[in-house]
Amino acid sequence: MAGDAEQQLRAYVEYFRDLGVHEFYRRGEPVYETGETVVEARSEAPAALADVPVVREAPPVASMPSSSTNVVVPPRTAPPTPESAIPKLVSFDNIAPLPEVRLAAAARPAALQTIQEEIGDCTRCPLAYAGRHKIVFADGDPNARLMFVGEGPGADEDAQGLPFVGKAGQLLNNMIGAMGLKREEVYIANIVKCRPPGNRVPEPEEANTCTQFLVRQIDVVQPEVIVALGSTAATYLLGVKQSLSGLRGRWHTCRGAKLAVTYHPAFLLRDPRQKSEAWKDLQMVMKEMGLKAPAKG
Ligand code: URA
Repeated sequence: MAGDAEQQLRAYVEYFRDLGVHEFYRRGEPVYETGETVVEARSEAPAALADVPVVREAPPVASMPSSSTNVVVPPRTAPPTPESAIPKLVSFDNIAPLPEVRLAAAARPAALQTIQEEIGDCTRCPLAYAGRHKIVFADGDPNARLMFVGEGPGADEDAQGLPFVGKAGQLLNNMIGAMGLKREEVYIANIVKCRPPGNRVPEPEEANTCTQFLVRQIDVVQPEVIVALGSTAATYLLGVKQSLSGLRGRWHTCRGAKLAVTYHPAFLLRDPRQKSEAWKDLQMVMKEMGLKAPAKG
């Protein structure tokens, strides 16, 4: 495909992905990373969110891996999971109370460590065999009032074992700062803890296997507010598949917390015009939590 047309097609696919339309890749076809990153011009978005270069991470391009790449792809002959075996979407609110409910603040760090130890060197879903380097458990304050949930680790997170440490993470840090908070004061996790190959959207089987631990993390931390970053987080936390525009701008609930939906920082890097919309979502959260934006300068 000619360069321009391919770029345009990629942008469309990413755009629809962020709207919650995921069925674009060919099931069963392995994908390989290029590691290619395209840096674009700076945006005109609000100053609080504008000081990260606009980056489009190139979507995966199907090509043969070099013999030196350490990507393990599940055998092509593996039988597909039958549709009937894939768990249906379940709202986090419909999952029964778990042992960690209502722990005192002092008990929360150890409770999170117990969950992390239970996860261990996890092989519960195919992502364990898809080139994962590190399991990305979470980052931040076990007693945070505010929790952010993203989709799944990317290359930087997979290498470091921490969520949101790449370009999207820089923007998330700026968003947190613009709300008058520090990254260490919030709790950050993802729907899946292992990197999907080529940064594809996690499969339902993968997400539903992993969220049993995220539910418990939420029950331990007991945040007042959860922000779902992007449609994958919103879909699995709320148990509904709807466009982001239908979910933004109002409150939902999730395991005793109020839940707001906003754009994923990676989407905002691709389409900086939406930063002002995301800022409205964050202001809704700030109002609820009594947070004030830091004074300019
Ligand atoms: N995108 C996510 O959804 N999560 C991360 O941790 C990093 C990028």
